[in-house]
Amino acid sequence: MDAQSTVKRRALVTGGAGFLGSHLCDGLLGEGYSVVVADNLVTGSLANIEHLRNEARFEFIEKDICQPHDWGKLDFVFNFASPASPVDYSEHGIETLRVGSYGTFEALEAARKSGAKFMMASTSECYGDPLMHPQTESYWGNVNPVGPRSVYDEAKRFSEAVTMAYHRYYRVDTRIIRIFNTYGPRMKIRDGRVIPNFMWQALRGESLTVYGDGRQTRSFCYVSDEVDGILRLAKSGEHEPVNIGNPSEFTILECAQQVIATTGSRSKIVYEPLPQDDPKQRRPDISKAKRLLGWEPRVALHEGLKLSLDHFRRAVAEREQLA
Ligand code: UDP
Repeated sequence: MDAQSTVKRRALVTGGAGFLGSHLCDGLLGEGYSVVVADNLVTGSLANIEHLRNEARFEFIEKDICQPHDWGKLDFVFNFASPASPVDYSEHGIETLRVGSYGTFEALEAARKSGAKFMMASTSECYGDPLMHPQTESYWGNVNPVGPRSVYDEAKRFSEAVTMAYHRYYRVDTRIIRIFNTYGPRMKIRDGRVIPNFMWQALRGESLTVYGDGRQTRSFCYVSDEVDGILRLAKSGEHEPVNIGNPSEFTILECAQQVIATTGSRSKIVYEPLPQDDPKQRRPDISKAKRLLGWEPRVALHEGLKLSLDHFRRAVAEREQLA
């Protein structure tokens, strides 16, 4: 073993029992980290980390990160705790605002006390319903500060501000990742997001519910690409925000058609009202990530949907058994 591999680095992942957080844990363990997960399981699930139960370098603490805690020596804090689907954060609006304010302060304090590096999981929602397309990191966004999505958007924007302040005032070695729509295994089948929703409907032969006219766009990143981007950003020295998302843009109607094709379903498409403030378009400009991190996604939507199909099939079956 070389000197590097014998050094035990310890990472705290808040929200590590969530969809993306749990994949990040796998990535960090793969890089030799010891991983501590803090999660209050509001939207996360123990099932996402069940496979790590006997891993000696893994520890789970059921905890609301808004409360202070002595984590012991840490080398890196990944602050990924927050409800993230529009349905979840609407249902848990106050918790979303709390975790994106008090929680972020606590996570930054944990990093500061340990001299640890810090990464804030931010979001393309910082751009709101963007008037600039595609979105570069320098765009300040078009966010409704009092609309239904504001509990999430403003919490994340505030978290970015606190993160930059800890960097500027306390010299904490921080990073900010702006995550665009990400999908893959371990997504909750009923979290309301478009891909799990369409999968649920297609696999049950129900009509796919396209909101609005289906011409609004999103750009979907497969989870392994997203984690690769996170790990690369973690190793970089970049403190300003970096977009990590797949720049291939689809209308929601095209997304529905791809899910129907992947599942081989005979489901039809029906149209339902568009939720308030639903962004009309979203696509990351990833020039910065390419330049700084040598990162770009590799998995196309049709491939990622295929890779996710087993998970969604199982999730539908489990859910149906419960009913
Ligand atoms: N959407 C849809 N049907 C659904 C769920 C979502 O047409 O059953 C649309 C939603 O209105 C939005 C897009 O799909 O335009 C992505 O929604 P999602 O909730 O996945 O996340 P968002 O990108 O809006 O945060």
